[in-house]
Amino acid sequence: MISNSCSTVSRLAPAAAFIVAAVLPIVGTAQRNTTSTVTNAPRHGIAVANIDPDVKPGDDFYRYANGRWIARTEIPADRAGIGVFSILADRSNKNVAAIIEEAAKSSAPAGSNARKIADLYNAFMDEAAIDGRGLKPLESHLAAIAAIHDRHDLAVALGKTLRADVDMLNNAVFSTPNLFGLWVAPGFSDSERYMPYLLQGGLQMPSRDYYLDETAHMKDLRVQYYTHVAAMVRLAGFDDSESRASRVISLERDIAATHVSLADIEDIARANNLWTRADFAAKAPGLDWDAYFEAAGLGQQKQFMVWTPSAFTGEAALVGSVPIETWKDWLRLHLIEAYANVLPRALAEEQFSFFGQVMSGVQQERPRWQLGVNLVNGDLGDAVGQIYAQKYFSPQAKAEARAMVANLIAAYHKRIAQLTWLAPSTRAEAQAKLNTLYVGIGYPETWKDYSTYEVRSDDAFGNAWRASVWSYQREIARIGKPVDRHEWSMEPQTVNAVNLPLQNALNFPAAILQPPFFDPEAPAVVNYGAIGSVIGHEISHTFDAEGSAFDSKGRVRNWWKSADHAHFEQQAEKLEKQYDAYEPFPGVHVNGKQTIDENIADLGGVAAAYDGYRASLKGAQAPKQDGFTGDQQFFIAFGQNWGSKTREAALRRQVLTDGHSPAQYRADVVRNIDAWYAAFDVKPGDKLDLTPDERVRIW
Ligand SMILES: [Zn+2]
Repeated sequence: MISNSCSTVSRLAPAAAFIVAAVLPIVGTAQRNTTSTVTNAPRHGIAVANIDPDVKPGDDFYRYANGRWIARTEIPADRAGIGVFSILADRSNKNVAAIIEEAAKSSAPAGSNARKIADLYNAFMDEAAIDGRGLKPLESHLAAIAAIHDRHDLAVALGKTLRADVDMLNNAVFSTPNLFGLWVAPGFSDSERYMPYLLQGGLQMPSRDYYLDETAHMKDLRVQYYTHVAAMVRLAGFDDSESRASRVISLERDIAATHVSLADIEDIARANNLWTRADFAAKAPGLDWDAYFEAAGLGQQKQFMVWTPSAFTGEAALVGSVPIETWKDWLRLHLIEAYANVLPRALAEEQFSFFGQVMSGVQQERPRWQLGVNLVNGDLGDAVGQIYAQKYFSPQAKAEARAMVANLIAAYHKRIAQLTWLAPSTRAEAQAKLNTLYVGIGYPETWKDYSTYEVRSDDAFGNAWRASVWSYQREIARIGKPVDRHEWSMEPQTVNAVNLPLQNALNFPAAILQPPFFDPEAPAVVNYGAIGSVIGHEISHTFDAEGSAFDSKGRVRNWWKSADHAHFEQQAEKLEKQYDAYEPFPGVHVNGKQTIDENIADLGGVAAAYDGYRASLKGAQAPKQDGFTGDQQFFIAFGQNWGSKTREAALRRQVLTDGHSPAQYRADVVRNIDAWYAAFDVKPGDKLDLTPDERVRIW
């Protein structure tokens, strides 16, 4: 992934009710305001007005490329941050809002995608109806929890919460509030069939550090979390809210202690654990696994990939030892938190006050219509995406993007052919991976079929519940079936890009293939610096610590020689140290190990894009524009990909929980590229200067 854009978005809370017809003018205004600040439309090329000429590029390249934009831009009150990605996401949301509006006007027949889109949105927007129903939608679910009497019942209840809500390799979703999370993907050893992968879970806060870290900042967050949990329990109508909150949080802390850290979770060797059903009882006693899997609809499944075995052992033991009443309160809290956005506003507001304000520093909730658009993107993403792709992505844009991808792949072929540290057999397999890579551009080849997902115009809670069950049923039905390597893992309206290592595939959604990332009217050098580096980033994941665990067929296989590994590890370690040294807040350092794959991808991406740009010139010089040489434009365009501002709470959270480094350090990766030194006359003594020997060269 190029960016973890979902991580700082708060959950939902109410605002004034909008009807669909009100959407367009509102979005239109917001759009005009935000776009002009970043892209300086209608010029094509680097955004000269964003550059701060008073900053020396060699001292702080990120601020040089983006300083004036940073100075004049304010983070909107309803955001955790702002940047090129979020501004494009706003544009995409505006387009999706228009699609929803059209769907609502069309009086499409019952059961059609258009009717579902309109009904899903309208049911969510009808806050009066949601408030009017109060806690009624929860009644049957709470009654089921109240009826748990023994550990067998508890295992059944926990099994019923299993959802397809994690994704360890494509979209890097490493947490779920349910006890465990399921991901259905091609098998590690049999990449022709879908396998079930299970991941640790059970926490409301983003990771184990939030429960265990002893810094003052984290201790303070935990005090506020306690207040929040007690408030949620009280609002849901339960007595004794404070002692219930203490017990639930104490259980979450015990769960956190069993969790594998984020830095270790991306290690494929640690994740490669095939468990039979008998293994669960033997290796993770405490949970009645037969009851659990039966309730999850997986009673017949004989084998699972267990991503984090130590957490399964630890969490199952807690299911067997912690009082049942505590688990029942844990189930209640997790149910209420999961659906607060479609419950009365007091619950949604309380949730936002913690997860939005405290955890991410967002001052106010987004307008309701934007939350509605997010909801439709989440639950009917392909239905909207299909229309989006048709309306907003031209065949010409697709053809031009495809040509650029081909140039980047050619650049990688060349680089790999010249790498002396790779053994010939390793080089051959790396080339084979490039040859068999499927590159999806704009939109998927096939679309999800929503015909069995029931949407009602007057049932926001039920729609959300059924969406989560529908998606889970769809995923478990795929287990054992043949793999479709061309299947996508992102929607066309998403501003991001992704590498799917088990399919040896890349997806570049339509929404990222637009200015300022990709502008057919801009000088080629600018497109190479901007979208070219993004494409190069995704290709690089094919060969990073994670990607290199998989061969050209997507199987887990060690196709590297030990000398290859030794060199790779040594260079990776150098890069880890470079990032460990970055300190966004006093005492808070970037985690070089946790971010290593993304940093390598940034480095490989910009290096390959640079080669692609040089090759496209066929020996000529790129024309100067606005006084900048071709090389300068290339690096500035790359640096401007990362122009952004993030609130402190959200940035602290990113440092702890995201595989991507904070934006400013991503721009500064150029300090490893020789051509950058020449382009900006960077000299020893400049803050970003590295001696040629200190520069990291991997791909
Ligand atoms: Zn990435």
